[in-house]
Amino acid sequence: MTKYVYDFSEGNKDMKALLGGKGANLAEMTNMGLPVPPGFTISTEACLAYLGKGSFPDGQMDEVEEHLVRLEGDMDKRLGDPTDPLLVSVRSGAKFSMPGMMDTVLNLGLNEESIKGLAQQSGDDLRFARDAYRRFIQMFGKIVMDVPGDAFEHALDEAKARKGPNAQDTDLDEEDLSALIGEFLGIYRQHTGSDFPTDPREQLSLAIEAVFKSWNGKRARDYRRQNKISDDLGTAVNVVAMVFGNRGEDSGTGVGFTRDPSNGEKRPYGDYLQNAQGEDVVAGIRNTLPLARLEGLDATSYRQLLEVMSTLEGHYRDMCDVEFTIEKGKLWILQTRVGKRTAFAEWVMAFDMLGEGLIDEDAALLRVDPNRLEELFKRRVKADGAQPVARGLNASPGAAVGKVVFTADDAEARAKNGDKVVLVRRETTPDDYHGMIASQGILTSAGGTNSHAAVVARGEGIPAVCGADAVKIDAAAHAFSANGTTVKEGDVITIDGFTGNVFVGELPLEDSLLEKARSGDEAARGERIWRAFERLMAVADARRRLRVRANADTPDQSTNARARGAEGIGLCRTEHMFLGEERVGAVRQMIFADDEAEEQKAYDALLPLQREDFVGIFRAMDGLPVTVRLLDPPLHEFLPDLTTLSVEVALGKERGEDVSEQEQTLRKVRELHEANPMLGLRGVRLGIVKPGLYAMQVRAICEAAARVKKEGGDPKVEIMIPLVATKPELEQMRAELEPVAAEVLSREGVELDHLEWGTMIELPRAAVTAAEIAEAAEFFSFGTNDLTQTAFGFSRDDIGKFVGMYEERKLVPANPFVTVDRPGVGRLMRIAVEEGTAANPELHLGICGEHGGDPASVVFCNEIGLDYVSCSPFRVETARLSAGQAVVGGAGSAST
Ligand code: PEP
Ligand code: MG
Repeated sequence: MTKYVYDFSEGNKDMKALLGGKGANLAEMTNMGLPVPPGFTISTEACLAYLGKGSFPDGQMDEVEEHLVRLEGDMDKRLGDPTDPLLVSVRSGAKFSMPGMMDTVLNLGLNEESIKGLAQQSGDDLRFARDAYRRFIQMFGKIVMDVPGDAFEHALDEAKARKGPNAQDTDLDEEDLSALIGEFLGIYRQHTGSDFPTDPREQLSLAIEAVFKSWNGKRARDYRRQNKISDDLGTAVNVVAMVFGNRGEDSGTGVGFTRDPSNGEKRPYGDYLQNAQGEDVVAGIRNTLPLARLEGLDATSYRQLLEVMSTLEGHYRDMCDVEFTIEKGKLWILQTRVGKRTAFAEWVMAFDMLGEGLIDEDAALLRVDPNRLEELFKRRVKADGAQPVARGLNASPGAAVGKVVFTADDAEARAKNGDKVVLVRRETTPDDYHGMIASQGILTSAGGTNSHAAVVARGEGIPAVCGADAVKIDAAAHAFSANGTTVKEGDVITIDGFTGNVFVGELPLEDSLLEKARSGDEAARGERIWRAFERLMAVADARRRLRVRANADTPDQSTNARARGAEGIGLCRTEHMFLGEERVGAVRQMIFADDEAEEQKAYDALLPLQREDFVGIFRAMDGLPVTVRLLDPPLHEFLPDLTTLSVEVALGKERGEDVSEQEQTLRKVRELHEANPMLGLRGVRLGIVKPGLYAMQVRAICEAAARVKKEGGDPKVEIMIPLVATKPELEQMRAELEPVAAEVLSREGVELDHLEWGTMIELPRAAVTAAEIAEAAEFFSFGTNDLTQTAFGFSRDDIGKFVGMYEERKLVPANPFVTVDRPGVGRLMRIAVEEGTAANPELHLGICGEHGGDPASVVFCNEIGLDYVSCSPFRVETARLSAGQAVVGGAGSAST
């Protein structure tokens, strides 16, 4: 028989797959002797079995019963006992943390009878008992039975309004609560058609089922898709003895982080809410106090909490967050995990912990997530004395400018239409997730740094300002006001997630600290984040085996790439050198030429222009290899569009104008027109049809290299022939072009130390015949953009229309144009590497498709033994980091 239920004393932190993160860590803390309320965990296996057959697996509820009886024994209380009831919470907890995405029910076990016992046991505190009951009906109704949450909220708001204009829920007395319970039970009956279940065991069984089902709720599925979490994991359910933070001023609840999750500073950080239950903090319903204020309220619990936090950080060797409750002066730890943090904090913490000796270099390297590195380079608001209209908490860093929207649906709809929006809400709930991720930034008027809005925004890298209480939202008027200013839906605001400031209108943004430091700003270079960046990147560089090059087409791009650590150019696309006013004329002349002499004239005009481009690039990359790819796109791309031109000619004729020149162009455009240009006359095929074209390019490359060499430079030239499918294509091209290079170099009297000839592997046929092609190549560079296009038969220009749906339906694990499709495209690459190097052991291997800057693909490239990856300049650091991590042990293995 499979065991489905585990007591907290039976698990440990490494059992996350089975017990979920929460269950595994509760078990770990229990075994560490920390003050955790007793309880047990129903495993993810039970959840999967339930989801598979639609009912609990055999034996599961018997095990639950056994553990429940043991829990009753431990607590010396019975579930549903009218004199002294045991109450439990039922909490979801999957392997990976999914904040607020699944469901939790508190105070389970209450009914009309047991509230009397609860009141009695809490010093005749009937108010407390009734409040606990109304919360239970509300949570159970909403979560287990799908009663609309608003119905309860509305009744609660009305009850508060009856007490006075600014009444809080703590102002409701026992009579008010008694009336409210009556209303809640009515709401429950009205929406479910049945009475609220009074049997605690029935309550428990329904709650467990609801948590299992919540794994497949829309929110949870959206979150998993966005965060690339598998749908096959299931959630565990934790049944935990209740402790109460809402038993008066000497009680409360909070969230603490062992370090600041926003900026990484080494100081305890968090929020505390007096006289409240746990959900109140995360929901952002009431404004919380900074954790440090707890010291003044309850110094003993505060000190004990700091001790627990420090023990946990030492034990997990990482920043941990804890959820805690203080019940009448007694501290309880309800949860811990390695805490989520901003990309900024991630670097600072890893650097500090390395300095403190808490972790070693390899661990520090794996703590930072290459997928989030770009966030560190994000721009900031340049306020220059501009006055904020409101100020809130700096909940998630970055700057956002966008049009105000007030609902998640509006945010999603407007963003789909290409608008940049800032979502403004009192607080957010997990139901708002789809709108949050569609927004540039998030602004809330209530809630602390650990409110749902803040947690999600930090996780997603969306700038957020929370708890800006001057912001008064008038939903009916589609506007908010703040300190006398009214901002309507659609108006532009700027929010600064670094400072918490909110501005009306669009403010200019400025470079990040890292960007400033890189350009030599001394003050920025003294900042911790820059020192962290330099230190950990040095570790990555020391560990990595892969070289990192950049895809760069101009001297400026090359200089930028080199400043970011590029060790050469892996792809210089030459097509832009055929654009621009002065060149287009010559290109047209080449296309229209009737004989070789005329075509040659065009090449003679283009040659000096290309040569100057290459000189600039070789200078910028002096001493480093530069792979120049000969022209790839079909020639019609340099002519006007067929339809536009046809219309122009027709209209001109109608007006009686002389359109003979346009007609000639139109004839040529028609002649060159292809039904499938991506599979047409491009790449090497163009080189074969227009031999003078590639010869001109080779001449320009070699003349440029000769010039730079004569200046005392050290150009390292690699000439790459695109879209090769067969060995003879490459052989014939080399046979034509090598003499051209030799002629130039001998005329210039220059010898190059490094002049290689190679090809791209971007067609399946090239990959599977790599052994042959390798005999004619000194290097291969995988063009995974085209290789993905041709392997799947997905047009890379049109796939945007449906790739989202493919990902959603899990028809592909990820967009294959972003992350290398290992079983298909990856297998072709592996074949080409293995068979290519077997035929030619000297072969150099690289990748220059977009995948070269994608962390998971970099890990794959390391695995199959490429020599380098090449990516766009702004991803060079990401690739360096990923290449270091690939050696040490994992892809993007950030600790969060
Ligand atoms: C490729 O196909 O991967 C490649 C780098 O070439 P391009 O994107 O220019 O087709
Ligand atoms: Mg290509």
